[in-house]
Formats: sequence, C-alpha cells, structure tokens
Amino acid sequence: MFASATVATNLAAVREQIERAATRAGRDPASVRLVAVTKTLPAEAVLAAWEAGQTEFGENRVQEAATKVPAVAVSGAAPRWHLIGHLQTNKARAALDLFAIIQSVDSLHLAEALSRRAPPGYPVLVEVNVAGEASKTGIAPDEAEATIETMRGLPNLDVRGLMTVAPQAADAEDVRPVFRQLAALARRFALPELSMGMSSDFGVAVEEGATIVRVGTAIFGRR
Ligand SMILES: *Cc1c(COP(=O)(O)O)cnc(C)c1O
Repeated sequence: MFASATVATNLAAVREQIERAATRAGRDPASVRLVAVTKTLPAEAVLAAWEAGQTEFGENRVQEAATKVPAVAVSGAAPRWHLIGHLQTNKARAALDLFAIIQSVDSLHLAEALSRRAPPGYPVLVEVNVAGEASKTGIAPDEAEATIETMRGLPNLDVRGLMTVAPQAADAEDVRPVFRQLAALARRFALPELSMGMSSDFGVAVEEGATIVRVGTAIFGRR
C-alpha cells in the first residue's frame, strides 16, 4: 500500500496552493487542471491519488506507461493519462493507444507521424523550449510560429495549446519570464491550453496563466 494518507494530504495542499495562486491573479481556480505526475512510481501511487479524487495523471515514457496504465485499469480506476515526455516516432502508435493527450509534441516530424495514425481531433500540445536550453527538447521560440501554423494544418491533430518545462531555478520568480513568454505565444495563436509549472514553480505558473500544472514531487514525495 502506497502511503495513501500522505498522498491525500499533499494533494489537498497542492490544490489549495493552486486555488490561492489563481485567486491572486484574479483567475477562476476551476480554470486550472492538476496533472499528477507518476513517473517511476508504482500503480499503487496512482490508485492512492485516484482515491483522493485525482483523475488526471502524467507519465513521461511510453514503455513505463505500457505496464502501469493496464495495471491501474485492472483496479477499476479510469484516469485520463497525459504523455509529458519526449516521444520517439516509432512509438507514436503505442502512445496514441495509451494516452488521452500528448503534451510533448516537440517536432514537426513527430506531429506528422502522430497525425497519420491518430483518430480525428486527437488533442496535443506543442512543447516549446522557451529558454533555449540545449539539454531540453521542444520547438525553439524563433521557429515556433511557423511550426505551430504547419501543425495546425495536419488533418487529425487538434493543437490545443503549448507546454514548456522551465529551467531549474533556486527561486520560482526567476522562471516567471519563461512562463510569461509561453503565455504570450499561446495568446498570439488563440490557443486555450497552457501547460506549465511543476512542484517548484506551479504557483508562479498559475499566476502567469497556466491551465494545466504537472506536479509529481509535491504530491508523492521525492522520486
Ligand atoms: C517529472 C516531470 C514533472 C513533475 O516534476 P516535479 O518536480 O516532480 O513536480 C513535470 N513535467 C515533466 C515534463 C516532468 O518530466
């Protein structure tokens, strides 16, 4: 049994922080969705959060999800799974079968591969490497406009918004400009979804307009 009492307590605290951040920014707290990130954690962790009312979950690897998703389903839980990590083209088919949404579409090549195999209207987010870090995947900001435009023309993908992984920072305030830049880009395309903010910085991300935050450590503890 995963420490389900702790998970429930942590979840409640994260939800409350999201609410407070939304309220500070004059936003409706209901406009922010929490995705609980369960990478490296067992199915029991998913079930503990599910029992505490959490319905959306994130995984970063297809191979790991391929065992975890069915293991969770067998227990009767029916979460909505988000893919949040880099996807290789040869795993596009498997990813489409496992995930309700792919947040980490980080190249036109991948988007085309997904569109060839996806059912019509399959929701995706485009990952943007806002800070231009060499260690991270994602579309470069100066290529984002052209790439997003092309992706929107693909037949089976519904480009719902943008996603970013901010640089590691000692102070969440340091990454505020990254979130602000992603929000500006989404506004330019009238894209409704903005996935940004993790355990260390989701409050700032919500203040800057996040509609999806992806939180692991603050809910489940250190991996
Ligand atoms: C691991 C991960 C998260 C969650 O990170 P925490 O710091 O544990 O909250 C969010 N987004 C992505 C893409 C991740 O890989």
